Amino acid sequence: MQILIKGARVLDPGNIDVNKDILIKDHLIETLLDPDDKSIPIDIEIIDARGMIIVPGLIDIHVHLREPGAEYKETIETGVMAAARGGFTAVCSMPNTHPVNDNSQVTRFIINRSHELGLTKVYPAGAITQGSMGTALAEIYDMKQAGIVAVTDDGKPVENSNVMRRALEYCKGLNIPVFVHAEDPGIADEGSMNEGPSATFWGLKGIPNAAESIMVVRDIALSELTGGHVHFCHISTKESVEAIRQAKKRGVNITCETAPHYFTLTDEDVKDYNTNFKMNPPLRSEEDRLAVIQGLCDGTIDLIASDHAPHSVIEKDVEFDQAAFGIVGLETSLSLSLKLVQDGFLTMASLVNKMAKNPAKILKINNDIKHGNVADLTIIDPDDTYMINSETFLSKSKNTPFSGHMVTGSAFLTMVNGRVVYQRSQHF
Ligand SMILES: [Zn+2]
Repeated sequence: MQILIKGARVLDPGNIDVNKDILIKDHLIETLLDPDDKSIPIDIEIIDARGMIIVPGLIDIHVHLREPGAEYKETIETGVMAAARGGFTAVCSMPNTHPVNDNSQVTRFIINRSHELGLTKVYPAGAITQGSMGTALAEIYDMKQAGIVAVTDDGKPVENSNVMRRALEYCKGLNIPVFVHAEDPGIADEGSMNEGPSATFWGLKGIPNAAESIMVVRDIALSELTGGHVHFCHISTKESVEAIRQAKKRGVNITCETAPHYFTLTDEDVKDYNTNFKMNPPLRSEEDRLAVIQGLCDGTIDLIASDHAPHSVIEKDVEFDQAAFGIVGLETSLSLSLKLVQDGFLTMASLVNKMAKNPAKILKINNDIKHGNVADLTIIDPDDTYMINSETFLSKSKNTPFSGHMVTGSAFLTMVNGRVVYQRSQHF
């Protein structure tokens, strides 16, 4: 089986940026051809990608697929279908399923299921502690053997600093990163939105920025103590960005991500107790939003991940302070992030680093566009203007604050192992 992708700009930052056709053969990238090359076989499938940009497969390293245990919110199948539609060739799944992915049986289940589906690849993260309860370390070695690429108790912090220290020492030996959900639950104190004038206006209990930055500072210290790789999830505050910036200058072994909602919305967008604007960490102030963008621009923030967190109406159609935290993101992440390019904050190459190359580095995946590599590719249509409509989502859940938003740019085609797993037809 051979496929020729014609007419696009091929952009793999640090490697190539050319207008060439790509020949895919037997699931692999065979070669780049000049557009007028006459040596092409006749019995070949041609994908017309004029005006598009072919980039290394996008990777979302922070998604909740909910299976096993909460299949009414999302299954591995609907999750990877949503991922493929969003342009992602791989995702890293968080372990807070039921049961928790804290042992190799759950890890194998997730990997086997994703192999059966053959769509977007799933690289599971395992739990740091048993049941993500924060006390005893999980069976990290066994899970590593089974295929985990990171550990995290995401959804919760590891409150005990000594447990975190041991996890970092242990994972350093296994050469896997520890993903940190940075939150001090004491000071977060069951708040439901950002602490500030908006929370006061709506009469909701606030979560101060310090709830995040206290833990960021602690885990920078623990990374310095152990040399272990800390990756901070969903950074949302100016204090966290600054602490990470300074630590990186000292050469501390840390990386971090933010999510599109933190550079797109603020706590002033939280209105009328609409629970689709409730996530953890919460939407912050305008000052924080700008600090997150600055962090992306200067390289303090390594990458963009969606923190795709599907919930059904059962969890969301309730009082604001009772509602579950989290929004879906796989099908909006690329379009929202392309706005950073349109607004001149990032170059297209830099965005591709944040959504494909840097995530690959952290998960130790090679998604370079070069001869002999597996053809995991995303074709971006930079000019597609459309309105986000959650009713069209392939995800089982529709909890997004972005339904009705106009955006420009989307995934035109997603290819995994040389196979087209998504191709855009039209918007509804
Ligand atoms: Zn989290």
